[in-house]
Amino acid sequence: MKQCINCMTRLPRKEVTEVAWCSLCAPCLQVVSDQMKVLHDRPGGAPVQIQQCGWCGVARSCGVGWRTRCLVCLDDRSVPDPAVQKIAHRLELDGTWRENSEFIAATTVKVRLAKYFRPGLTVLATDVHGLPWTGYRWLTKSHGTWGRDDETGEVRQLKRVRGEEGLLYLVRYGTVLKFGRGTADRVSAHVAQGAVPVIVLSAPSQQVVVARDRLKRLHRGEMVSQRTPVDLFAVLPDGLDVTDRFPRS
Ligand SMILES: [Zn+2]
Ligand SMILES: [Zn+2]
Repeated sequence: MKQCINCMTRLPRKEVTEVAWCSLCAPCLQVVSDQMKVLHDRPGGAPVQIQQCGWCGVARSCGVGWRTRCLVCLDDRSVPDPAVQKIAHRLELDGTWRENSEFIAATTVKVRLAKYFRPGLTVLATDVHGLPWTGYRWLTKSHGTWGRDDETGEVRQLKRVRGEEGLLYLVRYGTVLKFGRGTADRVSAHVAQGAVPVIVLSAPSQQVVVARDRLKRLHRGEMVSQRTPVDLFAVLPDGLDVTDRFPRS
């Protein structure tokens, strides 16, 4: 027996279809049958398509010949995942269960996209295993993160940009705070994804790594409710406040 991840109905294996790394029953497959539109087909000859959700506009990457659906949108047949509701509770989100799930998924996608940003590039789409149902990354399987070179128009798979300069930052997505470390480009990428910079501290890279790890242990993750006090100075006392380098957009 298999279980449809969207409506949780248990069915014989041959009655479910693999969609977006998970199994869906026929009625759930039907609900999203015309949800996604192909934006880029096999960029650079890669066996991948960039598809966009017609419901919310978020794009994702998908293997050619695979079935997929939006990373963010749930539907009228979706049922709540208790683990996601627990996260929503921790983040003190006050929407319906579906709004909260979709907000967590959308923010997870934005945070992932921000990791690939660099000047001269438009990050187009990623693929996070587990979304939209689990609200967070479940396994590391992915069809990759893709972007377009602003000058040449070439669409290609992106490699992650790792932070060199030491910045420890706290940004706000709606009512959720996200902290992390990285370069000025990383912070700008969050702002471009709609985040508001709360505080940004500069310090030697090694200190920033240690400080970020302490915060992560303290808060059990990198996303917390806006009412949770996140004290960057407590973990990075010698940090220089450079927040005003990042104007709110
Ligand atoms: Zn179903
Ligand atoms: Zn969508």
